[in-house]
Amino acid sequence: MIIGPEILAMLQPKAQKYQQAAVAFERLTMEDVILALAHVEEEGPRLLGRVKYAQQEVFLTPLMNLYWPEAYDVAKRKKWRVDPDKLRTLAFFTLYEYIKPPRCKQCKGRGSMRQRLFAVKGKKTDPNDPLVCPRCKGSTYEPLRDADYARSLRMDESSWNKNNWRGKQREIRSVLDGWEIACLSEMFDFINPEDDA
Ligand SMILES: [Zn+2]
Repeated sequence: MIIGPEILAMLQPKAQKYQQAAVAFERLTMEDVILALAHVEEEGPRLLGRVKYAQQEVFLTPLMNLYWPEAYDVAKRKKWRVDPDKLRTLAFFTLYEYIKPPRCKQCKGRGSMRQRLFAVKGKKTDPNDPLVCPRCKGSTYEPLRDADYARSLRMDESSWNKNNWRGKQREIRSVLDGWEIACLSEMFDFINPEDDA
């Protein structure tokens, strides 16, 4: 089974950091991805990869159980005075958004589009050159809005803003960024072992 375009679209934006990675991923089958994931040493990065890239949703609960204490640690370190239930809900939605980013409606999750589908006024371009999607700026997805998060935390948007919940959300999301980078870099090392010669 070749990995589907949706998973490729998720892998590739992060993969740009690793030069040949995007090319390497095009050749991968889902079996390759699963095999590479099995060689990711740390549990957090491995579980994140399994749920996100191999769609093994059975690992979602263990992943959340691992992620939630990390988010709680961030809150403790930063001395946030917040309701732990709200923090847990924030962690859950942050994780969920991270794993299943809502696809950008304009480019349908491709990150780019054909020029002719999106005319740029007064610009001479090859109509077949792909253009970075103006809506998601190539990220392929649309982040949940403040209003979405506020609703999930059962608060109105003004208290979400006033207590800088967005800032808190970014802080706890960075744990997942760290895990994802660790996961991808170990996968790449496995897929493209470096020549030590
Ligand atoms: Zn887009």
